[in-house]
Amino acid sequence: MRAVVTGGAGFLGSHLVDRLIAEGWDVVAIDNFVTGSLDNLQHLEGNPKLQFIKQDITRFIKVEGPVDFVFNFACPASPDDFVKIPLAILRVGSMGTHNALGLARAKNAKFLTASTSEVYGDPTISPQPETYWGNVNPIGTRSVYDESKRFSESITMAYHRVYGLDTKIVRFFNTYGPRMRLDDGRVVPNFVGQALKGEPLTIYGDGLQTRSFGFYRDIIDGVFRLAMSGTNEPVNIGSNFEETILRFAESVLKATGSKSKIVHVAAASDDPRQRRPDLTRAKTLLGWEPTTGLEQGLAETIEYFKGKMALAG
Ligand code: UDP
Repeated sequence: MRAVVTGGAGFLGSHLVDRLIAEGWDVVAIDNFVTGSLDNLQHLEGNPKLQFIKQDITRFIKVEGPVDFVFNFACPASPDDFVKIPLAILRVGSMGTHNALGLARAKNAKFLTASTSEVYGDPTISPQPETYWGNVNPIGTRSVYDESKRFSESITMAYHRVYGLDTKIVRFFNTYGPRMRLDDGRVVPNFVGQALKGEPLTIYGDGLQTRSFGFYRDIIDGVFRLAMSGTNEPVNIGSNFEETILRFAESVLKATGSKSKIVHVAAASDDPRQRRPDLTRAKTLLGWEPTTGLEQGLAETIEYFKGKMALAG
């Protein structure tokens, strides 16, 4: 098997590359380093199973030779990025996904795209099943991500219907683990970094908004199972252990043994109040459930960030 992974030097993309190589696949990883880094693939240097191409997928994607599977994982995913580089996010979700689909079609390959719980927006029902159509503000600062991911799902289904392409859509919920960027802006690197530096943990708003945090290893296992499955329907992959951001901050303080304080700062705009996946479909179709508890996942993540901070001095 030979796969192309767009965003292959990113947090989840690089973990997917590892998993595919462990399964015996050859992998072509593509990244333009907007948020990815070759550090994430450094351990594979010289491995003949991996070919790396620096390329912006919003332009024609050129890959030589046969391809059996295209995994479309390129996209900045931090709400900080939605404000800093909104046009790049719109382009990669729309034109980038279009090009990745075109590559899959040209190579007669299967296709899996990384979508998001953000397609549900600020959900009015909980937990969120795949059949929920969402509650998205189409003109808010988050919309560049939400709407381009919704477009990416739409064009993926159109390629499936029009060209008969075998396509898959994974809807990730909050995911964390080693290889996230410390300065990424999302809550896990922020809180862990702040706790390790003895700085206050910044809670946006009242902290009563909820999230469910999935550990990358479980999540990548879900992706692999989905890739191997026969389904073309979107599938939620994430943890269904829901907690408030306030409780999560306390968990980070406990896990790091930090004496940092918790402070409340301005709420983020259009911040979803609740988020928890209905995992029935993943369980029924893929036999998949998350197994790593927050304590274990946080411990591994904290070790990783400690190492990064030591390197940075
Ligand atoms: N958040 C926070 N402090 C931070 C970063 C994030 O309280 O320093 C909150 C944010 O408002 C949201 C949740 O944590 O309610 C998760 O934010 P993240 O940026 O990780 O991703 P999101 O789930 O919003 O896409």
